[in-house]
Amino acid sequence: MKRVLITGAAGFLGSHLCDRFIKEGFHVIGMDNLITGNIKNIEHLFPLPQFEYYHHDCSKYVHVPGELDYILHFASPASPIDYLKMPIQTLKVGSLAIHNLLGLAKAKGSRLIIASTSEVYGDPLVHPQPEEYWGNVNPIGPRGVYDEAKRFQEAMTMAYHTYHGLETRIVRIFNTYGPRMRTDDGRVLPAFFSQAIRGEGLTIFGDGSQTRSFCYVDDLVEGIYRLLMSDYTMPVNIGNPDEITIKQFAEEVLELVGNPKAHLVYRDLPTDDPKIRQPRITRAKEVLDWEPKVSRAEGMKRAYEYFKTVVKVPAEA
Ligand code: UDP
Repeated sequence: MKRVLITGAAGFLGSHLCDRFIKEGFHVIGMDNLITGNIKNIEHLFPLPQFEYYHHDCSKYVHVPGELDYILHFASPASPIDYLKMPIQTLKVGSLAIHNLLGLAKAKGSRLIIASTSEVYGDPLVHPQPEEYWGNVNPIGPRGVYDEAKRFQEAMTMAYHTYHGLETRIVRIFNTYGPRMRTDDGRVLPAFFSQAIRGEGLTIFGDGSQTRSFCYVDDLVEGIYRLLMSDYTMPVNIGNPDEITIKQFAEEVLELVGNPKAHLVYRDLPTDDPKIRQPRITRAKEVLDWEPKVSRAEGMKRAYEYFKTVVKVPAEA
């Protein structure tokens, strides 16, 4: 049985990856320190003999006994409000932790994939964003702690690849959504669904003309799995190129939820909020024969089914 270590296992993406690797017949070691993860996301795996959970902060020395075929580094605060609250931990998990995990991969002969991000492109001056674009990042802005940690992580991973010949993969993840997102992580989709279900104002930051392109989690997991199993060592964008403004997106949520009390409200745009974002996915198509299959209409319906079960509606006064 092949053995895989997944950091950030109790998080949104980490937990879906645990499910996928269990389904593929792997022995999965999930690691998390639960600063943003939720143990409920992986509770259903605890009875399985092929699943182990290590409660550990991977910014500290990482010890895993036995063989390890693959390492997936998915631990990190990942939403703007989380990394604003935890700037130092965000920098550490993108730098100290990847150093530990690359060392572990070298010792065990494992193949390692890192979760990089569209944030390496910053507030992009090239649209849509191809992997060749170097980005437009403010290192000392509020998002710098995340963006620069992820950029360092790419540099460190590439250095281990070229200098030590380690097998590495880099996935640049664009906005992703689906079940197990935290309702309070501040990201736009959980915020809008929670507000619409509770009959509150959907908080549009700025005038809502900024764009994002949302990928359903199952499509993302498929892309990551294919990349890890491929021979390709350069970064690959995985995301859905279907671009939408945040205002249009709020209107779609309003229509889907159909709560007459819900409405749109406007708030200040956060500092350095990227104005546009859309992945160019030519490379993923060519190298992995991958493209997203779940439309936004279908994905949003599935996400709504999930948020209905977790959003608490206050009792009528
Ligand atoms: N946003 C918004 N209202 C919210 C939360 C976010 O209008 O309640 C906007 C945010 O300013 C950004 C976009 O939605 O332009 C996506 O934000 P998110 O935090 O989901 O992720 P980002 O892509 O910025 O990392």
